[in-house]
Amino acid sequence: HAETDANQAYAFYTPALSDQARERLQLEGELREALDADDQLALHYQPQLDLRSGRLIGLEALIRWQHPRLGWLSPGRFIPLAEGSGMMNALGIWVLREVCRQLARWDAAGVRAPVVAANLSASQFASPTLLADIDRILAESGAAPERLELELTESTSMRDPQSSIAIMTELGRRGLRIAIDDFGTGYSNLAYLKRFPVSRLKLDQAFVRDLVADADDRAIAHAVIAMAHQLRLEVVAEGVETEPQRALLAAADCDAIQGYLLSRPLAAQACARLLAGGAALP
Ligand code: C2E
Ligand code: MG
Ligand code: MG
Ligand code: MG
Repeated sequence: HAETDANQAYAFYTPALSDQARERLQLEGELREALDADDQLALHYQPQLDLRSGRLIGLEALIRWQHPRLGWLSPGRFIPLAEGSGMMNALGIWVLREVCRQLARWDAAGVRAPVVAANLSASQFASPTLLADIDRILAESGAAPERLELELTESTSMRDPQSSIAIMTELGRRGLRIAIDDFGTGYSNLAYLKRFPVSRLKLDQAFVRDLVADADDRAIAHAVIAMAHQLRLEVVAEGVETEPQRALLAAADCDAIQGYLLSRPLAAQACARLLAGGAALP
């Protein structure tokens, strides 16, 4: 009897699973081609605002894929594919190279860009060629390392904290800045956090979302900001969508904000207009 059930389950689920697997495989192949062809992937840039000066102090580069059939795909759709098929390191290298190329394009156009932050995946951070890759990209592009910030998630940085310190120190020696992304969602070992040569914590949007209604989230935001300042780190709040959220973060002495309240991530051209002063932030 059990065998019959198992067979039925097999017959029922197999076609659906293989459709999914086929689609996944196809997307994987297409992502590989997109990476080679270098004409479907793009970076969008989301502004970061300093809460005290009201100035634009940074841009976060966020990857997008203009798929020929499916239109614009967000990283949530294809980064897991890249992770699962060994493409993530190549994708991360493409991102760093494109950030440097974009800085050069803005320079050539006379557009003054602030520091640009790129997200570094766990596999890229663990890559034995990371430092050599970065050195090569910087040398090829001529970009000043001081114009780049690397975002590492809290979980990535805490996976092997001793080796994180060593790699972060090497990155810092080159003049690159480091931020801890999605702070508050992982498990931070505070003894290590204090030894990481990082300059900023990005307070995860999970704590920003209900800041107005949820006193606990407010308490967490205050505590993270106070602790960060004690450790001489700045805090950028992610996912700020409303004016009351901005006001609460300012009252909590948060340093900077990023989110839809200011701007969605912008294509390079639109971002250039913003940087040139053609469009104002609220
Ligand atoms: P993240 O690094 O934490 O980036 C912030 C995400 O929040 C972005 O989603 C951004 O569009 C979104 N966001 C910004 N402001 C708001 C807001 O006010 N409200 C809401 N609800 N969301 C907001 P996105 O672009 O879909 O990226 C998702 C994640 O994918 C990123 O999270 C990052 O972990 C990853 N990712 C994106 N680009 C790259 C990349 O080039 N390399 C790597 N390794 N990961 C990337
Ligand atoms: Mg990020
Ligand atoms: Mg984040
Ligand atoms: Mg996130």
